[in-house]
Amino acid sequence: MPELPEVETVRRTLNELVSGRTIRSVTVKLPRIIQRPAEPEQFQDALAGRTIQQVERRGKFLRILLDELVLVSHLRMEGRYGVYSSEEPPELHTHVLFHLDDGTDLRYKDVRQFGTMHLFLPEEEFRLPPLAKLGIEPLGPDFTLQALRDRVGKRTSRIKPLLLNQELIVGLGNIYVDEALFQARIHPERTPDTLKPAEWKRLHEAIRTTLASAVEAGGSSIKSYVNGQGEMGMFQQQLLVYGRKDEACAACGKPIVKFVVGGRGTHICSRCQPMKG
Ligand SMILES: [Zn+2]
Repeated sequence: MPELPEVETVRRTLNELVSGRTIRSVTVKLPRIIQRPAEPEQFQDALAGRTIQQVERRGKFLRILLDELVLVSHLRMEGRYGVYSSEEPPELHTHVLFHLDDGTDLRYKDVRQFGTMHLFLPEEEFRLPPLAKLGIEPLGPDFTLQALRDRVGKRTSRIKPLLLNQELIVGLGNIYVDEALFQARIHPERTPDTLKPAEWKRLHEAIRTTLASAVEAGGSSIKSYVNGQGEMGMFQQQLLVYGRKDEACAACGKPIVKFVVGGRGTHICSRCQPMKG
């Protein structure tokens, strides 16, 4: 599933490719992708003639700003946007086509069909699901050490599920939580009340640096993720623990172990991330 850095890369790429374009018409081939309004015909009618102003992001959601409307899009597991010539026959699993005024289509493809689109009036999107209850942006100016402690510090569950909770902090998924906890040298099953001030500081820094360097890696290679058809792929930056079971820890050489925390596959170095901090 794409996490904050991957969605941010898609956002930047989309912004470059379709900002300023006017939507001539929309074809919805799989109605269940459209969550709001209720009828796909209303969605198609509302978007016809609108110009895409810019593409923003809130957590793992894309916010496509149009004149007088906002399209909130979540890629979930496998959603992909791509820009194609409108002459080109749609590929398999293409569910929504935005026909643009320059003879291209912005197409949404989704093998798993879990992605969602919601249409709102401007600002309305922040008061209603799915954006209403989202937590703090970890790369934004409000994400201070104190804000992290205020949100997570008084909770009694384990630190990893707390960091995955989108109502506390947005954008972190399984990959970057494992990476941030490794960098902070914190065991994912520790509870917030056991963390010392130095560990909070390391965790705060690790969340920001892990995400920021992944955004940078994606941003610097946007071109290579847009293929001939303009399809935006996902990238993954160099990871230190995630997906590296049995490989040597980059810091101490001990093999990385994998186990389950809160139902999620979890990678740690048991020497660098002891249960007792
Ligand atoms: Zn280690």
